[in-house]
Amino acid sequence: MEEKSLQLLKRLCEASGPPGFEDRIRDIYREKMIPLADEIESDGIGNIIAIKKGKGSNPLKVMLAGHMDEIGFVVKYIDDKGFLRLQHLGGFDPKTLIAKRVRVMTRGGDDLIGVIGSKPIHIMNAEERKRLPELDDLFVDLGLSREHVREHVRVGDPVTLAQDFVQIGDFYSCKAMDNRVSIYTLIETMRRLGHHDVDVYAVATSQEEVGLRGAMTAASRIKPDIGVAIDVTLACDLPSAKPEEYVTTLRGGTGIKILDSSFIAAPKLVDAFRDLAERHEIPYQMEILPRGGTDAGGIQRAGEAVPSITLSVPTRYVHSVVETIYGPDLEATVELLVRFIETAHRVNLSY
Ligand SMILES: [Zn+2]
Repeated sequence: MEEKSLQLLKRLCEASGPPGFEDRIRDIYREKMIPLADEIESDGIGNIIAIKKGKGSNPLKVMLAGHMDEIGFVVKYIDDKGFLRLQHLGGFDPKTLIAKRVRVMTRGGDDLIGVIGSKPIHIMNAEERKRLPELDDLFVDLGLSREHVREHVRVGDPVTLAQDFVQIGDFYSCKAMDNRVSIYTLIETMRRLGHHDVDVYAVATSQEEVGLRGAMTAASRIKPDIGVAIDVTLACDLPSAKPEEYVTTLRGGTGIKILDSSFIAAPKLVDAFRDLAERHEIPYQMEILPRGGTDAGGIQRAGEAVPSITLSVPTRYVHSVVETIYGPDLEATVELLVRFIETAHRVNLSY
C-alpha cells in the first residue's frame, strides 16, 4: 500500500470509537469526504452520509455502508479503591482482554491509559487456574487514587482497547481493523471513482457492533435501490483450523459474501460482483460466514426491502487487538467497489 494510504488506515485504526461514541471517526470521515462529496449529511443516531451525484437521468441510489464503531466498553462502576468495572459494547472473548491496555475517554477531553489486570497465576488455586475468565471478573487499573479517579472518570465514560498499528511481515495488524478498513474503503472509493450514472450514498454507520443500528436508520432515510456493506470477515487459515473452517484466507483477495447470519445476499448482486472481478482480474473469494452479521442485514430489511450484499476484507484474529490484514486484499475490495459503482446502473435486480 502507498505510504499515504497506510497513514490514513493507521490513523483510523488507532483512533477510539466504541459503539455510540464514534465522534473521533466522524471527524476524520468528514474531513476526508468534504473535498470528495457533493453533500454531507448526518442523522439522529450519528451516521455520516456523503453523497456524490451520478450523471444518469433518473439515477438509482446505491448506499455503501461501513461501520465506524469498534467493540468497546463504558465504565459501569468505580469501586472504593479506584478500580473500574466495565460494561461491554459488542462481542468480546474475555480471554483476549487480560493484560491489555485501555484508553478511557474522559469528559474533560483527555484520555487516561489503564491496564486490564487480573490475579497472578502464583496465587491462584487449582480451581481458579482451570476457570476461563468472564467479563465481570475484569477490572481496569488506572494507577490513580480513588479521589483522582472519581474526579476525572464518570460512569458512562467510553473505553476502548489501546494498540499501535504495526507491519508484521507482509501484513498489517492493529485493533479496530474491524471496521476502519471500511472507512478507508469508502474514502478511497470516492477518491478513485470515474464516471458513474448512479447516485452514491457513502455512509459511515454508527452502532453496528450492537446490532446494525445505524445502517437500518440510514437505509430508511435514503431508501436506496442497492445496498453494499463493507466489513471485515474471518480469515481462519490458521494452524488450529481445518480448511473447511477457514471462511476466507489472507492473500485470497476480497470476499464476495453469499451469506452471514444477518442476511442472504441478493443472488443477482453476487453474480454481478463475481463477473466484474473475473472481467477485471481482481483477486476475490466467495464467502459464507456461519456466525456474525454485517450492515447489509440492516439495509436489506429497511423500508420496503433493498437488494443487498457485503464485500469483505479477510482478517485474522477478529475482535482482538491483533486484527491482521493483507494490504492487497483491501486494495482489491476498493477496486471491485469502484468497478461496481461505475456499472451499477446496468445491474438487473428484478426477482
Ligand atoms: Zn465489523
